[in-house]
Amino acid sequence: MNDPYTSEATVLVIEDEESITRLLRLYLIQAGYRVLVAGNGIVGLTLHEREHPDLVVLDVMLPGLDGWDVCRRIRASARTPILMLTALQTEEDRIAGLDLGADDYVTKPFSPRELVSRVRAILRRTAPTEQLVLGDAEPDMLNFPGLTLTVRARRVEVDGRRVELTAKEFDLLLALARAPERVFTREELLSAVWGYDYLGDSRTVDVHIGTLRKKIERDPAQPRYIKTIWRVGYVFDPADASVAPESGA
Ligand code: CA
Repeated sequence: MNDPYTSEATVLVIEDEESITRLLRLYLIQAGYRVLVAGNGIVGLTLHEREHPDLVVLDVMLPGLDGWDVCRRIRASARTPILMLTALQTEEDRIAGLDLGADDYVTKPFSPRELVSRVRAILRRTAPTEQLVLGDAEPDMLNFPGLTLTVRARRVEVDGRRVELTAKEFDLLLALARAPERVFTREELLSAVWGYDYLGDSRTVDVHIGTLRKKIERDPAQPRYIKTIWRVGYVFDPADASVAPESGA
């Protein structure tokens, strides 16, 4: 699972050639990863959806759905890093893969050692920043005027009333609320929350800030918690939240 509270990353290998999956499994497990294997694209997509791996190693030549299709379908809903395995070597194929949202590719035949180091490099590049990793010493509850976050239960209360946030909204609020008054750029928030800034689109952050404000702010146009810093990003600054007037009062 893509669990921010553990460090062991899960790698999903989608490849039909058993000799290759056996080798990859061996090397990846040795490198400390949890490994899932799918022999075709449909099983791969199902495992991706269910297990939320941290990275996908995806072969192009698969029975049924090919690797390009699988890549496109994963990208339709997720930013999971994808390392393509390909026997094709032309420039066009490489570009096609990267256009579809693959992060890197390795041409067969490949050295398993090299593949593992590519996996490690991608995961390092895409790892969520420290802010989302909950240390043992960190308090489970963050209290601000009118706003309480219970971290492990992922619960948020505004003025004593529970509000339902999506997973990304919660992660975004948590990243900000852990560092009050620190100004975050959109890129920092993208990598902290989405764990991945390679294809990052900063509008994603703006959209989620917008929906988050609707849920936690009395007046989203005059936010008392998450403030916009013009041309920079956002800051969680609840200092004056308690004295903010009730809307309409
Ligand atoms: Ca294959």
